Amino acid sequence: MNKFQILVVEDDPPIRNLIATTLKTHDYKYLLARNGEEAILQASSHNPDVVFLDLGLPDIDGVEIIKRIREWSNMPIIVISARSEDEDKIEALDAGADDYLTKPFSVEELFARLRVMQRRITLLKADSEMNESAVYVNGELRIDLAAGCAYKGNEELKLTPIEYKLLCLLAQNTGKVLTHKYITQKIWGSAWDTNIASLRVFMATLRKKLEDDKVSYIQTHVGIGYRMLKVDAKE
Ligand code: CA
Repeated sequence: MNKFQILVVEDDPPIRNLIATTLKTHDYKYLLARNGEEAILQASSHNPDVVFLDLGLPDIDGVEIIKRIREWSNMPIIVISARSEDEDKIEALDAGADDYLTKPFSVEELFARLRVMQRRITLLKADSEMNESAVYVNGELRIDLAAGCAYKGNEELKLTPIEYKLLCLLAQNTGKVLTHKYITQKIWGSAWDTNIASLRVFMATLRKKLEDDKVSYIQTHVGIGYRMLKVDAKE
């Protein structure tokens, strides 16, 4: 029995039923909401582990729902949207969504995203339990936050201060897509286009130091941002 509870917010009955049936098949617990009012009510009264949120709802805009939930909860929100425009995804991510999927999507893809969120939740729980250790571990990557050093295996990564800050920011948000605007604001305190151009350069040099042919930690979302992935530990 899967202990995770998913809230499915979708006004389109066939899609809602498809997701519900698949969740049932995989033994997930789930709640259904057909509009924004129901979504907020279900989210606040049941505190689900993950929310699948359709952005285009009849009563309240999906982005508004994200903002309202974020006033009191960090529950992972995966946006499912028919809008293929990058601006909508960016708006949803900046409002606090964790990931996005564009319709039409495959159920396999949705479940792959769900598993990423489950790993993120497990990681966050482990993090809060070992809060004092201040060491982040992801596969061969280890960040000693107290000492301000990062290692890959036994070798220290020779990072510039900005590369290190970037790495920490991504690590702290493992599993979550961070937009260019969010990252540049955190690193440089502003989100000018020149900062976004610099971000690409720093990200490229960071990845060169961190990654090799075998392992990829950072996922690029073209036109949107970046995400640190949870890498499975070796052996
Ligand atoms: Ca809809």
